[in-house]
Amino acid sequence: MTASAPLAATDRVFNFSAGPAVLPESVLREVQDEMLCLPGAGASLLEISHRDKLFVEILHDAENTLRSLLGISDDYSVMFMQGGATLQFSAIAANLLRGSGKRAEYLLTGSWGKKAIAEAKKEGEAVAIYDAKESNYNRLPSASDYSVSDDAAYLYYCSNETIQGVQFQDEPTCPESVPLVSDASSDFLCRPLDVQKYGLLYACAQKNAGPAGVTAVVMRKDLIEKADPSVPGYLYYKNHHDNDSEWNTPPTFAIYVLGKVARWLRDDIGGLAEMEKINREKSGSLYKIIDESGGFYRGHAVPECRSLMNVTFNLPSDELTAKFISEAGENRLAALKGHRSVGGIRASIYNAMPREGVEALGQFMTDFLSRNG
Ligand SMILES: *Cc1c(COP(=O)(O)O)cnc(C)c1O
Repeated sequence: MTASAPLAATDRVFNFSAGPAVLPESVLREVQDEMLCLPGAGASLLEISHRDKLFVEILHDAENTLRSLLGISDDYSVMFMQGGATLQFSAIAANLLRGSGKRAEYLLTGSWGKKAIAEAKKEGEAVAIYDAKESNYNRLPSASDYSVSDDAAYLYYCSNETIQGVQFQDEPTCPESVPLVSDASSDFLCRPLDVQKYGLLYACAQKNAGPAGVTAVVMRKDLIEKADPSVPGYLYYKNHHDNDSEWNTPPTFAIYVLGKVARWLRDDIGGLAEMEKINREKSGSLYKIIDESGGFYRGHAVPECRSLMNVTFNLPSDELTAKFISEAGENRLAALKGHRSVGGIRASIYNAMPREGVEALGQFMTDFLSRNG
């Protein structure tokens, strides 16, 4: 493969960034069209009040589109918060652990779970009932590898560890008495989900659902009511729920873009089952190249735990890794460097990564192997 013509400053590349990450081009164009003047508002969305009727409609539309995509029932609240996924590490423990007299239980399958439990420990007793540290987080537990107490405050897990590229195929086994809590930041909306299984499910938008600045929290309403009112105001879910995500100024622009991404999923893609099919094709084509490379490309995750979203693999040497990243860049394939804790390459192929981007990467990988293998 020969390098293409030099990029002009305004040319778009295939962007494999782990987050903030690729957005659907049609959404970016719509945002561009409406930037100067939101239709009917006489001003940009960036300039109008969060109490303006037009923005409130946008917020409700974003919520309702998420509800229809995921089949979220009225037993659940959908809240839009700031503070990223990281604020949720604290909020979850503050609302579900504080004053409960119980302990929270965590499955640690990668970097984000570890950060989450560290925050929970500041609130109360939080224990790892499974930790994949020994295998450098390349696998997930099976049901016999852990057991959840019947009276745990909640069971916490991360459905897709973005850095390691391991993704649960199904929810972990959890007693019915225990709320299941999931950090779905990097695989939110990548496939259908049975929301009824969860007490709380959250995702920062900047991986698979929109720009940085907003986090969607889907939470069973009865759990919202149980939290101790001593929880600091912004962390107290009840404030956000009771005020329709307008307890204070919400991240209006991020919610607006998230709503457009959700509509794109529903109307252009055709829903989450269709999205999953596409995601399986996209990721499957890269894993196939890894598996058929005779050991040149070595996947980080064990095959049965591989992520649809973050494809992580190593090359035979650091020199080849550096060469891969540099030559990929010349071929308009950007942001492929793996996280330092795993090394190698991470190709984040979120919903909005077009098939052509994955095909171009696959061709590059095959070609690179034939020249260096
Ligand atoms: C990116 C990420 C986070 C951290 O998100 P912030 O919004 O930066 O706090 C947490 N969990 C997962 C799974 C992530 O991918």
